[in-house]
Amino acid sequence: MRLKIAILAGDGIGPEVTNEAVNILKAVAEFGGHDFTFVPLLLGGVAITATGSPLPTATLDACLESDAVLLGAVGDKKFDALTPDKRPESGLLQIRHALGGFANLRPSIAYPALSANSPLRPEVTEGADILFVRELLGGLYFGSPREWNKSTGEAWNTMRYTKSEVARVARVAFELASKRRRKVTSVDKANVLEVSQLWRATVTEVAKDYPAVTLEHQLVDSMAMHLMNIPRNFDVVLTENLFGDILSDEASIITGSLGMLPSATIGGTVNLYEPVHGSAPDIAGTGKANPLGAILTAAMLLRHSANLEEDAAAIESAVRTVLADGHRTADIARGNTASQHLVSTTEMGKLVHQALAQSIDQRQSMHAV
Ligand code: NAD
Repeated sequence: MRLKIAILAGDGIGPEVTNEAVNILKAVAEFGGHDFTFVPLLLGGVAITATGSPLPTATLDACLESDAVLLGAVGDKKFDALTPDKRPESGLLQIRHALGGFANLRPSIAYPALSANSPLRPEVTEGADILFVRELLGGLYFGSPREWNKSTGEAWNTMRYTKSEVARVARVAFELASKRRRKVTSVDKANVLEVSQLWRATVTEVAKDYPAVTLEHQLVDSMAMHLMNIPRNFDVVLTENLFGDILSDEASIITGSLGMLPSATIGGTVNLYEPVHGSAPDIAGTGKANPLGAILTAAMLLRHSANLEEDAAAIESAVRTVLADGHRTADIARGNTASQHLVSTTEMGKLVHQALAQSIDQRQSMHAV
């Protein structure tokens, strides 16, 4: 398998965690005899310093020519005085827009070894493994008309969707559910909003093409409650843009640390993979950054851009092994500290590498039998 991966490490802890994710991808390439090429590119504050632009044309062009884009994080206090369109974060918004992905995937998983990290009780989070599929290019954030009329003291936004926009993201959710526990929960506010009625009717229509997948509809307000009450009841959760933004953040507390959360944005010209966290200037350069979110993001890249499901699952399993063995970066070191070993960013990366090598070795010897 040949894969050209654009690497946008960015600012702060971005390069630190991305480096560990790239090491894991290199290991997968080596073990599997794949030909992965990594193309380092500038984005964010480092790009402003080098070129004056948060998203240089050379970066954008190279991303569009690659098979996948792996991003670290952007943001640097040094540029806080600049107008929003000139700041590092605007490079991120521009690249997301240019790559055109419409389906944002965010897993929320309760790792047994981290059950003390969630503010929810372990018996509530136990077994939770949810994949959010959030529509990313439509809805309230992009609909027009939109205005804040300061002279009349009114402001308005428009929640707008077309049937085809809903259908394409619904298909992504059903396809993914087909390979998981075969359940889609579609979230809307169909008791009040016409746009939600279109959403519900369209999702119901798409569901007919996936008879093996169970579809349920939930109103967003009760969904917010059910997510915290019985998270294990959900498999794939399909939502529009605003509801997905809120619910996926809410569900992140199931895992318990921002440093553990991966994401993927698919469906556009080139898929974009990024951990959920930012550049964490408070811990940059200290070796405290948790690289597991970035490493799990690399697993998503292999799953969604290379169809290397076994390797993606092997990375995820290696992360579980390392956590179960008690290894912790500072952000996830809680609960019974006697059974935990505090490790740095690079040590955590090496531990995942070792666990991955072992599991791939086992897999290869099983295939050889
Ligand atoms: P943040 O995600 O950078 O940090 C929030 C808190 O979580 C901090 O205490 C940080 O130390 C901790 N944290 C984050 N990632 C961690 C990791 N991998 N391991 C251990 N701890 C981790 O959010 P913020 O502080 O609000 O923003 C800092 C900068 O990042 C800002 O410039 C912001 O605009 C930018 N930002 C970028 C992205 C992105 O690139 N996708 C996302 C959010 C924020």
